[in-house]
Amino acid sequence: MILLNPGPVKLSPRVREALTREDLCHREPEFAMLQDDIRARLLNVYALSTDSFAPVLLAGSGTAAVEAMLSSIIPKDGRVLVIENGVYGERMSCMLEVHGIAHSRLSYAWGERINFNDVVRKLQNGSAFTHVAVVHHETTTGRLNDLAALGEICNTHNVSMLVDGVSSFGAEAIDFVAWRITACAATANKCLHASPGVSFVVVNRQALTSAEHVRRTLYLDLSEYCRAQDSQTTPYTQPIHLYYAFREALVEFEEQGGWQARQQRYRELAGQVRQALMSLGVTPVLNEAESSVVLNAYHLPKAIDYSQLHDALKVRGFVIYAGQGVLQQSLFRISTMGDISDDDIDRLIRNLREIILQTD
Ligand SMILES: *Cc1c(COP(=O)(O)O)cnc(C)c1O
Repeated sequence: MILLNPGPVKLSPRVREALTREDLCHREPEFAMLQDDIRARLLNVYALSTDSFAPVLLAGSGTAAVEAMLSSIIPKDGRVLVIENGVYGERMSCMLEVHGIAHSRLSYAWGERINFNDVVRKLQNGSAFTHVAVVHHETTTGRLNDLAALGEICNTHNVSMLVDGVSSFGAEAIDFVAWRITACAATANKCLHASPGVSFVVVNRQALTSAEHVRRTLYLDLSEYCRAQDSQTTPYTQPIHLYYAFREALVEFEEQGGWQARQQRYRELAGQVRQALMSLGVTPVLNEAESSVVLNAYHLPKAIDYSQLHDALKVRGFVIYAGQGVLQQSLFRISTMGDISDDDIDRLIRNLREIILQTD
């Protein structure tokens, strides 16, 4: 089955094989080496220095990493401005609410672009925000939010930027230093092409140190994990086999040329699908400049509903993704993450053509 949903992704044979490596106790030195290796490779993705940034590994899906980031870093007297233009921005507000963290929401319709004048106005109006939380790639619609612009504003107003980079880390430009990112949450099983179940936060060490006494959660406490991982241990049992697969995926990622090569590859594949669909009269929700390379959303053709399209593709070996919430009936999404070959995309395009022309 070729997965074209935004994670989990189709694994390469070598990553899948790594899942069957021998059993290992997480209190043995071999585990410490495996963990160290993954952490070092994660920093290498965006060439970050270990003095400034700590990669912190967690067992759990991307949501665990986002929740760990939000619950562990914001001091007791902190206040967060959450920018929402899709499901995942709204989920961050939910998390802040659950943890009783002061916040305001700057909300846009799903897929709408952030108006940076609104952000400036919010930060200027005396509410004493300490942090801005934002999703980099809003997977709801494929919109890539402009973090460079936001980083500049955060910098001017001396607030920290917390990023949900779950569906962009490894395939889009993320300039931690220039954009002054305080922390970025991400996962193994999207653009990094490993199995679901391991996620991570890349966090500015200084921010973590100053949040050391914040304790809203036990299991998702980033400071605790970071301390343990820096001392080559772990507070709790880790999913060993997923770690093996994650390391293998990171080695493969480096061999293939890192995030720039992956971005280029996704752009090519997504561009082919986009052109083919447009030639069939199917229109993308966003123009290419505003969309990530990871996933594109399309308006469903009038003559076909989502389940028809999904089911017809599934019997032909492809899984696509519905819209979320109110967008469920009106759009569909295709991601080109994972170990997808040129041939896979050629076959996808042939099948899409067949299905769409049949229903016309
Ligand atoms: C996938 C995703 C998540 C996390 O979803 P999980 O189901 O927990 O893996 C969070 N944010 C964004 C932007 C995502 O695309």
